[in-house]
Amino acid sequence: MNKKIDTLIMKGKPVSDKIIEVLISRIEKLKIKSGRSPGLAVILVGEDPASQVYVRLKGKMADKVGIETYDYKLSSDISFEELSNLIEVLNKDSKIDGILVQLPLPSNLDETEVLKRVDPEKDVDVFHSENFGKLSLKQPGPKSCTPAGVLEILKFYNFPIEGKRIVIIGRSKIVGLPLSILLLHENATVTICHSRTKNINEVTKSADILIAAVGRANFVNAEMVKRGTVVVDVGTNRVDDKLVGDCDFKSLMGKVSAITPVPGGVGPMTISMLMVNTVNAFEDHISMT
Ligand code: NAP
Repeated sequence: MNKKIDTLIMKGKPVSDKIIEVLISRIEKLKIKSGRSPGLAVILVGEDPASQVYVRLKGKMADKVGIETYDYKLSSDISFEELSNLIEVLNKDSKIDGILVQLPLPSNLDETEVLKRVDPEKDVDVFHSENFGKLSLKQPGPKSCTPAGVLEILKFYNFPIEGKRIVIIGRSKIVGLPLSILLLHENATVTICHSRTKNINEVTKSADILIAAVGRANFVNAEMVKRGTVVVDVGTNRVDDKLVGDCDFKSLMGKVSAITPVPGGVGPMTISMLMVNTVNAFEDHISMT
């Protein structure tokens, strides 16, 4: 039997703290230059409890770094026209640098159509096709928050990306797809698995770095990884009122060389990268005035 590996737990907090520290001093300087704080509009439609938690966490972090938040808590029966009108007003509001529409939206609202209404210059979540295009073509612009956070974690814990075989489970437009693009730009060899992938274990076992963004509790187990793999768990699943990842943490400990915990791994990074995108948008806006 193979000897157990001493698995490193890659917490997100120290990575996030470092990013936030830089942001705080950057904002201070930009505030002196512009005479105002960065502004982030947060739109929450309906009463989804998980969304309420995320919005609260984002607001808390924004406060900490010095970003002014403007909250819009809207009823779930708001019409598409009313929501579009609000976004239009915020697009034109010079104190707003970023507009965040918390997803998911109630099913009566077409998410794609709503997100299209956000001015790409204020699209800090990188949901607009213009920004996704820029990201794909490696042009200057905001980077998708969770994928950018995953890269920051790997870099902080000194796991090189170039030349590595990286397998991502999940191809969503929020995580898997943009992450694959960012990793390609870092010269990784990237494979994406999804619900139609055959013999998934064979693919995941080839990974030097395995990233799970599936949305299924404990989906990745020790049978799916080779010894010494680095595992990043993006998943956040509610099980018996507890937050658990997509990876079976206990079974992977001792077999993989490093793993992110859930909670406390990728989650804090997503919020930090949202703050980075907001401050970058702020800097762009004040340099144009
Ligand atoms: P999503 O849109 O539901 O996408 C899930 C992906 O997993 C899809 O591509 C799907 O394949 C694939 N998949 C589902 N079942 C599978 C299976 N049995 N085998 C292989 N692939 C399978 O979810 P998401 O928005 O990307 O989020 C993924 C997870 O990350 C969720 O738990 C979410 O809560 C979490 N998340 C966390 C953060 C954070 O900050 N920590 C941020 C965003 C998301 P198909 O495309 O074929 O359907």
